[in-house]
Amino acid sequence: MASAALAVKPILELDFPTGAIPGKPIVLSTWDFGLKANEAAWKILSSSGRALDAVEAGVKITEADPNERSVGYGGRPDRDGRVTLDACIMDDFANIGSVAALEHIMHPISVARAVMEKTPHVMLVGDGALSFALSQGFKKQNLLTEPSEKEWKEWLTKSEYKPKVNIENHDTIGMIALDVNGNLSGACTTSGMAYKMHGRVGDSPIIGAGLYVDNEIGAATATGHGEEVIRIAGSHLVVELMRQGKSPEKACQEAVMRIVAISKKRNQSLRDIQVGFIAINKKGEFGSYCVQDGFSYAVHDAKGNRMAKPDFYLK
Ligand code: ASP
Repeated sequence: MASAALAVKPILELDFPTGAIPGKPIVLSTWDFGLKANEAAWKILSSSGRALDAVEAGVKITEADPNERSVGYGGRPDRDGRVTLDACIMDDFANIGSVAALEHIMHPISVARAVMEKTPHVMLVGDGALSFALSQGFKKQNLLTEPSEKEWKEWLTKSEYKPKVNIENHDTIGMIALDVNGNLSGACTTSGMAYKMHGRVGDSPIIGAGLYVDNEIGAATATGHGEEVIRIAGSHLVVELMRQGKSPEKACQEAVMRIVAISKKRNQSLRDIQVGFIAINKKGEFGSYCVQDGFSYAVHDAKGNRMAKPDFYLK
């Protein structure tokens, strides 16, 4: 009996990195590409690093991957053939930084972080964002890869703007993390909707829409049709609903229900809309909800890195 009892190791020693307690650290990110991004974030979180550093390092993996055609390098261009990137970042002190319609820079998330840390502003767009990035030593490069250019040229033959749900002609990596010290941060980055109008900005670089973090309460991020997320100030809403005591999943569900209600008022077909929210609270509980089937997200905690599928409204 004694040896059996000894064989049971304390849970902290068995399952969690030094200093961690159940629920911390944890990182969540949107879509399948979240798995690889989570790995990079986990390296930092599991060695007691800051959530802010983890989310930046995590989403940089997706930004640099030319095979991910909806984020960063290799992202699909706008209808003028220009790859324009949107990103934002928020930390546990409510520091925020954002860039929109940024061209030629591989890592818009790091430019957003530089806006946060090195300017008196919170958001830079277009040429101003690019000049600032160059002044900070970021290198100018061509982000339009051959496959994306080829597809764009094919698209031009019909020039129909029809964002499809769950088809990867958009998608964003939104990542939220809670570190061993119990602090939250988030990052969100995308090339936006493929073949959007030049100058179109979605929810992803808008603090409160694509991402929101309140270190007292929780964090949330969004993916999908950015116009619909902006309409309800989605991620801020999810965090406020958690403040009212809702679980992360219930908070995401209620935010989705606002989109459902508004789309009915506006006579918009819900079948043409996908929005997914993911959220974590201060305890490390997490959840998600989306408009329709097809969205999934990646979770990495002490139990490992895995995909999860949320419940959805349109059955
Ligand atoms: N939310 C992004 C945008 O509207 C796209 C996406 O996540 O699918 O730009």
